[in-house]
Amino acid sequence: MPNSILVFCEQRDGQLKNVGLEALGEAHRLGTSSGVAICACIIGSDVASSANDLSAYGASRVYVAENASLAHYSAELYATILSDLAARLQPVAICMGATAMGKDIAPRLAAKLKTALVQDCVSLKMEEDCSLVATRPMYGGKLMAIVKPVSLALQVVTIRQNVFPALELKPNTSIPIEYLALPTTRTRSVAKVREVQQTVGGKRELTEAPIIVSGGRGLKGPENFKLVEELANALGGAVGASRAAVDAGWKPHSYQVGLTGKTVSPQCYVACGISGAIQHQAGMSSARVIVAINSNPAAPIFKLATYGIVGNLFDILPVLTEEVKKLRKKCA
Ligand SMILES: Cc1cc2nc3c(=O)[nH]c(=O)nc-3n(C[C@H](O)[C@H](O)[C@H](O)COP(=O)(O)OP(=O)(O)OC[C@H]3O[C@@H](n4cnc5c(N)ncnc54)[C@H](O)[C@@H]3O)c2cc1C
Repeated sequence: MPNSILVFCEQRDGQLKNVGLEALGEAHRLGTSSGVAICACIIGSDVASSANDLSAYGASRVYVAENASLAHYSAELYATILSDLAARLQPVAICMGATAMGKDIAPRLAAKLKTALVQDCVSLKMEEDCSLVATRPMYGGKLMAIVKPVSLALQVVTIRQNVFPALELKPNTSIPIEYLALPTTRTRSVAKVREVQQTVGGKRELTEAPIIVSGGRGLKGPENFKLVEELANALGGAVGASRAAVDAGWKPHSYQVGLTGKTVSPQCYVACGISGAIQHQAGMSSARVIVAINSNPAAPIFKLATYGIVGNLFDILPVLTEEVKKLRKKCA
């Protein structure tokens, strides 16, 4: 199907990840104006029940690779399944989330297909000849690079989470669904997953949270993270941390936002006692609304913030949490 965009939709335990649906939405938006079909691919064990759901997010055709051996992610297997499918479909582009999995698969896929890769895109445009023009942050968000293909070859792109809106169309239960055969002898997995340990048990995944409240060294100690947690709970958001807080052992690395942590793009990011070093900004500067609480009016975070509160977080956070709770009660 040469006139198609192939979207890899990630799932965990049969639950589709938002970013795959966001990728579908963007592919649909690009495809509508260029008459391009949107092919979604899901891989895993017990994933077929999600196939029909994908029509509501913009897929016009779904490919399912389902097998018990695919229950745990395998870079080699997943990339081979996608490259075999791409070789058959000859899509104009392949799109997936810039998640840990997406960033692992995409380069392998691009190498297998001998084509270009653009990671962590925040904007995509399709030219008349169906080539993609991608915008991506570089140097920790200091500049935006516009990447154009030098030839008309297929491009592999990963998109930043929470940047592109997902669609919500009427589900179409009659879209074509094709089951893919597993790759055979060519793929020998060099790694075997023996155990999966949840690092943030039961908590909302940071990269998917629409609201994040993060704490930094200004909290003075791990016990004070409860102030951040209380505000996050009141807002229905997730908790993040600066590297200083993580390095001090106040929170595990899975909470870290920034260059060497997670990249997040929530609707709202509240930075509490975080100076706003460039490496922290690299992970959160694309948040829609940034609220900074800091006692130092010259802290760099205020240059980025939509709303800034200069003051002592130990006074401000409890008041803010109480006010949010009151508002929530009123609106309930
Ligand atoms: C290669 C490299 C990679 C890095 N990767 C990351 C990364 O991924 N993420 C990251 O966050 N950092 C990263 N860093 C570290 C980064 O440079 C900063 O050191 C770090 O972000 C600082 O964390 P912080 O803002 O919590 O602490 P600080 O810079 O110490 O800031 C604490 C802030 O709290 C304020 N404060 C103090 N008391 C109060 C109070 N009572 N009320 C209100 N405000 C108060 C202070 O005014 C100050 O602005 C990296 C650095 C390097 C070199």
